[in-house]
Amino acid sequence: MSEEKKPLIKKIKATGHMRKIMADYFYEMDRAAKQGSPKIAWCTSVGPAELLLSLGFLVHYPENHGALLGATRTANEYIPVANAIGYSPDICSYLTSDIGSFIKKETPLTRAYEGIEGVPKPDIMVYNTNQCRDVQDWFSWYSRELNVPALGISTYRNIGEINDFHLQSIMDQIKGLIPRLEEISGNTFDLDKFKEIVALSKKCTELWKKVLEANTAIPAPMSFFDATIHMGPAVVLRGSRQAVEYYEVLLQELEERIAQKDGAVEGEKYRLYWEGMPIWGKLRDLAEFFIHFQTAVIASTYCNSWIFDSFDPDDPFMSMARAYTEIFIVRDENFKQKYIEEMVQKYKIDGILFHDAKTCPNNSNNRYGMPERLEKKLNLPTITINGDLNDLRCYSEEQAKTNIEAFIEQLGAS
Ligand code: SF4
Repeated sequence: MSEEKKPLIKKIKATGHMRKIMADYFYEMDRAAKQGSPKIAWCTSVGPAELLLSLGFLVHYPENHGALLGATRTANEYIPVANAIGYSPDICSYLTSDIGSFIKKETPLTRAYEGIEGVPKPDIMVYNTNQCRDVQDWFSWYSRELNVPALGISTYRNIGEINDFHLQSIMDQIKGLIPRLEEISGNTFDLDKFKEIVALSKKCTELWKKVLEANTAIPAPMSFFDATIHMGPAVVLRGSRQAVEYYEVLLQELEERIAQKDGAVEGEKYRLYWEGMPIWGKLRDLAEFFIHFQTAVIASTYCNSWIFDSFDPDDPFMSMARAYTEIFIVRDENFKQKYIEEMVQKYKIDGILFHDAKTCPNNSNNRYGMPERLEKKLNLPTITINGDLNDLRCYSEEQAKTNIEAFIEQLGAS
């Protein structure tokens, strides 16, 4: 595709609103880091953020920073720096790019937000291994480097049915964090405040779900590539009023688009499901590529990962344990297959694209026969492309695009 012929990505008007609340979030944290108050907690993306917020911490999410490094295509400058201190190129490239950027004392936040000189230093770090072991190793590196405690919840993985003993253990571990968090924050745990934050997270998650489900409409008003950007507030601002207000605005815009039959892809012909991590450094490029072929990538497991149906402010500890245990990444292969089957029905999907991300086996669900089983059961074409979330050396653009183009042709023939 030549420059002049690049297809149009339709702008989402709410983007300006999102940029403002994200900027406010980063500036507030930068101020706190400089003043030493309020205290700052680092948290994994599906970690116990609500508990941290209820104790007055501002929360930084290193995975969000990792995604920024990917999206700004700076990750590959930093991954080798972490490799040089012994962190393998085969492990999570969020981890290696984030640690590499810290060692080099560089961050895209500096370029995006005038006056911010670095990521906010933590007073404590809290992880949940529900998604992978890498997060524990990631926070452990910072813990040693900065002499800051890293606490964690060790969770179950590859589970089918969720039993009481799973939830009891997670709930006990969440409660067990409180004394240390009180000590570091200087605040006493307040159950009412905790319930309030869980209620806000629930509201945020309900709205985010509605935003994603807007894409059940034909044509779909938003692409997967848009959604990866607009999920920012659901990740870093859940538990806040700002996130709730933002998704009300975004949802209204999408509903207007649906009413006008204004799809994200002009002349939408095919609807695809994206299974796996985004390729952060290629979002725009891929969005344009699919628009060119009138193919809408409209739903994904990844963006659904911040839907926490079970939050219940009246039962905050147990519901939080459930919400962070029942997510897709924690579950076994049978659960995952059934989940994708339901998504295919719900979004009227014509084909599934699996992204095998070299450095994230946890989000690469093509490795145990899933595409083959789904093809057979649903009589639905699938394609697997090799790439990575941040390490663009693992992504062969030409090969991926040739294969996707052939796949789309196949959709037309079937
Ligand atoms: S789930 Fe994957 S991308 Fe996320 S932190 Fe773990 S290894 Fe990295």
